[in-house]
Amino acid sequence: MNKRTFLKIISAMTASPAVSPLIAWVAGDKLKNWAGNVDYSTENLYSATSINQVQEFVKKQNKLKVLGTRHCFNKIADSTDYFLSLKEMDEAIALDPQARTVTVAAGVTYGKLCPYLHAKGFALHNLASLPHISVAGACSTATHGSGEKNGNLATAVSALEFVTAAGDAVKLRLEKDGETFLGSVVGLGALGVITNVTLDVQPTFLMRQYVYENLPLRQMQDHFDAIESSAYSVSLFTDWQKQRIDEVWLKSRVEPAQEFHAPPEFFGAKLATRNLHPIAELSAENCTEQMGVPGPWYERLPHFRMGFTPSAGKELQTEYFVPRRHAVDAILAVERLRDQITPHLMISEIRTIAADNFWMSPCRNQPSVAIHFTWKQDWPAVRALLPIIERELAPFHVRPHWGKLFTISPDQLKASYEKLPEFVQLAKKFDAHGKFRNDFLNTNVFGG
Ligand SMILES: Cc1cc2nc3c(=O)[nH]c(=O)nc-3n(C[C@H](O)[C@H](O)[C@H](O)COP(=O)(O)OP(=O)(O)OC[C@H]3O[C@@H](n4cnc5c(N)ncnc54)[C@H](O)[C@@H]3O)c2cc1C
Repeated sequence: MNKRTFLKIISAMTASPAVSPLIAWVAGDKLKNWAGNVDYSTENLYSATSINQVQEFVKKQNKLKVLGTRHCFNKIADSTDYFLSLKEMDEAIALDPQARTVTVAAGVTYGKLCPYLHAKGFALHNLASLPHISVAGACSTATHGSGEKNGNLATAVSALEFVTAAGDAVKLRLEKDGETFLGSVVGLGALGVITNVTLDVQPTFLMRQYVYENLPLRQMQDHFDAIESSAYSVSLFTDWQKQRIDEVWLKSRVEPAQEFHAPPEFFGAKLATRNLHPIAELSAENCTEQMGVPGPWYERLPHFRMGFTPSAGKELQTEYFVPRRHAVDAILAVERLRDQITPHLMISEIRTIAADNFWMSPCRNQPSVAIHFTWKQDWPAVRALLPIIERELAPFHVRPHWGKLFTISPDQLKASYEKLPEFVQLAKKFDAHGKFRNDFLNTNVFGG
């Protein structure tokens, strides 16, 4: 489905006054994910505008999945029966300045929420590389940004409201519900339809972004900790060739104790003198402002601007998490595969993420490093390559991103998530008959 068609559908959704309105599908068009590599298995897409509508719809259907902003690269969101969209439920419901929380309807995107928060004097702790994704979809798959002290986006969640398979509305809070809450936030879409999310906020802040070019691999190897702790958020971009990190993106808060005073040289890399795209040859017009120009947090934390298409052309993505203590060894293990990887690669990004305690988070109980691959859209070639990379990363207890492409076996996944059996039981508590399960979840989580 192209952008024009999706917009048509969205305006059809907006115009309809009916409860759980059926979206008249445009004949001949396939419902696809953002990258276009997944044709969803049904085009039965309905839209809800209230919790009552969600409850009514859920009670009526035997099987359904919520479709967020369709940014996953695998079939975690797929359904053979029905999709429910909460795109129209996208308002900030309550900002509590004393408690420093904001409660939002689950369909909101970070792109819509962040300017609202900033205008009210507040900020989130971190963002992903682009703001176009829904809060509920991002938190459900443990989506993350970068920064040694920054947990993934789900770590901002302090309460969660969802509709169970029976149509009941449930509210879970961190302080009241303990482990049940920790099992539910990174819920992989398996527990119910999330309707509201409460997020921790902090006073708004400004940031500056600097980019350095050509950091020798040897410097990364010898000074990884110093490089990663030099700014609030650090991203290393590389095509794995020439023994170098092509670009280092440093995002620093404009605050006395935090500010990064950009020297002309950083561990052998040179300060860029123009805005850069992560792939240096591409135009930087869709990238957030660099060169140390101060701006609000939500216009510096993502790499890509809200108003622009975030990437050039079609792509696939894969990302692997390993414990932070193995960062350098894991990066070097991937680097040794450079001549197999680079022909299929657009760019790789290396980020660090603080530990959290969500049952199904790849960063559970371990500060992590994430090694990301944006691939050319050639799935047969990528599928052949992934087991080779996964084999090299296996000694480091690798875990894949839940929303990206991987070939790690269900048995290996099970072995790497000690809480997986409890998660299965928790999901069954809210969804006894698998209303929210699909092939992806059955294969990778529920064991066939
Ligand atoms: C260009 C690009 C850049 C990206 N950058 C990053 C990045 O920097 N960091 C990172 O970690 N990831 C990144 N991702 C991956 C992406 O952010 C995640 O996979 C995220 O899940 C996308 O959210 P979504 O709403 O689009 O999810 P969808 O694909 O629509 O859904 C994902 C899952 O969430 C469930 N879900 C969605 N809404 C609800 C709800 N209301 N209730 C219950 N379940 C729900 C779905 O059923 C599904 O299981 C990127 C993806 C793209 C395309």
